[in-house]
Amino acid sequence: MEIMKKIKPGEIFMGRLSHGADLLEEITGFCTEKGIRLGRVEAIGAVQRARLAYYDQKTREYLFFTLDQAMEIAKLTGNISLKDDQPMVHAHVTLADSAGNAYGGHLAPGTVIFACELIIESYEGAVFERKFDAETGLPLWDRS
Ligand code: ZN
Repeated sequence: MEIMKKIKPGEIFMGRLSHGADLLEEITGFCTEKGIRLGRVEAIGAVQRARLAYYDQKTREYLFFTLDQAMEIAKLTGNISLKDDQPMVHAHVTLADSAGNAYGGHLAPGTVIFACELIIESYEGAVFERKFDAETGLPLWDRS
């Protein structure tokens, strides 16, 4: 735990997202519009289809996959920080099908909202900027 920073609560937003819109783009767009540069996000709801990713630790590449079916958002959780000085939403989702089978992964563009109830907590008091991390190949929070 080498980069734990103390942060303070900021504004909290609660609402729902538009039917038919892109889930990740809607959340990112809201953060950009409100100037949220640090925070956390949580949501439940349903999607018409999903596009997720799995990070292959050996090849250091995201493997994207599509789930072309209607599913529940059993849980969306993520954080908001900066990449190239712009808000970046990093979210993971657990989705459930009609039999209760769960799928999960890193939320990617291409996930279409059926309905989504969202809470965003913004934070203040520290800057978290994503930079390339040589150990993992990922854009992780800078140590400074
Ligand atoms: Zn991820």
